[in-house]
Amino acid sequence: MSIIHILPEAVANKIAAGEVVERPASIVKELLENSLDAGADRIEVSVEAGGKRLVRVEDNGCGMSHDDALLAFERHATSKIRSAEDLFDVATLGFRGEALPSIAAVSRLVLQTRHASEPAGTKVEIVGGKLRDVVELAWPGGTHVEVRDLFFNTPARRKFLKAESTELGHLATLVTHYALAHPERSFRLASLTNEIVNVSPVRDSRQRIYQLMGGQLLEQLIEITPVERRMPVYSSAGSEEQDGSEPVPVRLWGFISRPEVQKLNRNSIYFFVNRRQVRDRLILHAITEAYRNVLPPSVFPVALIFLELPPAEVDVNVHPSKTEVRFRHSGFIHDFARDSIRQRLMTSRPVAAFPLPKAAEQRSGIEGDEAEVAEALAEEPPLLRGAEERSPGPPRSGEHRPASGWRSPSAPTEATGFRLSAPRPAPRPGVLPLEDGEPIFRDPAGAAVPSPGGAAVPRLEEAGASEFPMDLKPLGQVEDSFIVATNTEGLWIVDQHVAHERVLFERHQRLRREKKVEGQRLLLPVIVELKPEQQATLGQIAEELAANGFDVEPFGQRTVAIKTAPADIAPQDVQRLLLEILDELGPEMRALSLEVLRNKISASVACHAAIKVNMPLDRNRMEWLLRELARTECPMACPHGRPIVLKYGLKDIRKAFKRT
Ligand code: ADP
Ligand code: MG
Repeated sequence: MSIIHILPEAVANKIAAGEVVERPASIVKELLENSLDAGADRIEVSVEAGGKRLVRVEDNGCGMSHDDALLAFERHATSKIRSAEDLFDVATLGFRGEALPSIAAVSRLVLQTRHASEPAGTKVEIVGGKLRDVVELAWPGGTHVEVRDLFFNTPARRKFLKAESTELGHLATLVTHYALAHPERSFRLASLTNEIVNVSPVRDSRQRIYQLMGGQLLEQLIEITPVERRMPVYSSAGSEEQDGSEPVPVRLWGFISRPEVQKLNRNSIYFFVNRRQVRDRLILHAITEAYRNVLPPSVFPVALIFLELPPAEVDVNVHPSKTEVRFRHSGFIHDFARDSIRQRLMTSRPVAAFPLPKAAEQRSGIEGDEAEVAEALAEEPPLLRGAEERSPGPPRSGEHRPASGWRSPSAPTEATGFRLSAPRPAPRPGVLPLEDGEPIFRDPAGAAVPSPGGAAVPRLEEAGASEFPMDLKPLGQVEDSFIVATNTEGLWIVDQHVAHERVLFERHQRLRREKKVEGQRLLLPVIVELKPEQQATLGQIAEELAANGFDVEPFGQRTVAIKTAPADIAPQDVQRLLLEILDELGPEMRALSLEVLRNKISASVACHAAIKVNMPLDRNRMEWLLRELARTECPMACPHGRPIVLKYGLKDIRKAFKRT
């Protein structure tokens, strides 16, 4: 019995052509996709020498009949599509019929498989593209593919392979991606000495993230529960005419980081379309837009975004490695992604954490948080990195993942035995008891663990997301820097400087949009000396500066005179503000869009004009500030991404006093 067929030439010619076997990870990608397409729910990958010596993928999928096991190695042989039309409606990961022959051409390959319809299994051996042996064998089911000595017959290509640890990094990244996209299946990746990934089936992506990346990352993430929108279907992209068909459902879910999490590159942004991990500029743009004014322009969030839509709406036949897609209605998808992410970001609680005294010794306020983020960045596991940039060192033996410092929760053996929260310790005086399901305690490294000495950092609940409240009553200030306020929900602490910064930032942006930023003429012009680089930048942004309330004129060879500055800025701050803007923009100026430039200027102006710390405020002023903050679009983070508000919920207060 045979289900594989060779595509007619006319169809084969329509398939994006190109070499897909580049390195061990690209082989594993193709084999994993085949296993997933075969319905396997248990996939094991073993590698030796970073996959250069051996890659083995074992699955428990449907397997192949004797005839198919041979046909599979013909070019353009596939069971997944038949006609050119099928190319527009691909529901499987594979469809090109090229992977197995391409891999077999450059390695020593052994395939063992059996289809349920046949009593015996088949073993096929191919060396450098030549069939060496076909035998029948007893085989329980599923498929094993073993690929040895990659590029043994093409030494020139072999030379391009990187160090074992680099190749292993790519493999780890790849298996992690697939494991993230398929939480209901189990995945294992092991080298001779290490088990790098081992995850058993779980219910959802949240649990899968915990298995792969640990509780610490999860704590920094906000979950987007599935959002569905109906997409009107037009007969052709760009056309306004509906073709009479029903709108189709598009679903998005996933995880995005809180504003205080800042990454220096895009490597922690993952995007999956119909469970296929893809790189997509459109969605990257949508994510950046969603974080506009929440994160500074030069940093990136962590995001895992899953999108599901009918296969006919996505063209996967764009690139031979199938890592790029084209949406039929890209505008809709872009806006849908942007809005869903933005909305969740806006309604998430404006709070990060409320450290109790003992824990606070280690991390004091915002500095502590920043240190933590820096630490997390430094400890970012290779799994999370695009291995192009940095490669992991060789994993130490005994470690389950190549990550050091990241918690490696031992993978539960059964889905049912899985618990997301840290074990609940007996309540102690002075320790806030936990909410179920919330990782609450952190050890100094930040991992969620039971607290041994009672030093605890209660994390705030994410549930029942609410807006920043309008009814806060200020009680006073701590150190003339933090406003303490209450309402029926509990106790709130607001950082007055960043709160005001947020208010001013949004106001400045509004005024700029309406072209109404007012400059204030300085009594005496401020003379500023500029370095050549600063001068160059000034020349490039002169117009935008003018629109932001500056009047800066050449004064001498190296000096300029600031005659007018944005209205809220005190004269003694004017010089620093200008220099900060020039320095921040720096040499990468040319790459910035006008919008990013405007954001940077608004953020700098807001920062310099805002109420400072160590400044006493009277009650009216505090009330005013809280009210204005509540009116902002994004009250939970300053334009630089720092948190503005901490909250100590009434429920936690009651529990701490044992009044539950
Ligand atoms: P494609 O996946 O694009 O169809 P491949 O060369 O990867 O092309 O595989 C050729 C065919 O071999 C597939 O269409 C499928 O029918 C079969 N096949 C490959 N791997 C497996 C597997 N692990 N289990 C069952 N069938 C498989
Ligand atoms: Mg395939």
